[in-house]
Amino acid sequence: MPQQTSISESRCPQCNAKLDTIADPTAPDARFKPGDYVVCIECGIILILSADLSPRPPSGAEWHAVICNRELFVSLKKLQLKVLSFIQWQKQQKPPLKP
Ligand SMILES: [Zn+2]
Repeated sequence: MPQQTSISESRCPQCNAKLDTIADPTAPDARFKPGDYVVCIECGIILILSADLSPRPPSGAEWHAVICNRELFVSLKKLQLKVLSFIQWQKQQKPPLKP
């Protein structure tokens, strides 16, 4: 279990999921700081941490910086894919809804 960092509670701007914890499964000792990128575990959207560590959508300029940084862009896309396949896996664990 990766180390989790508690953050002031906020909502995912895309899916409205409650966000109060962040963790990096690839770096268990990760320390998060403002400006780090995170992926919502409920919907897979890429967000950036504000000064108080609450996640928000990146600005146009911040997106531009990501796209221009190939290494960062690729690692974010890989992380997003991992989260999306986790979401898919989680959905399959739930029994199908009856009509
Ligand atoms: Zn979300």
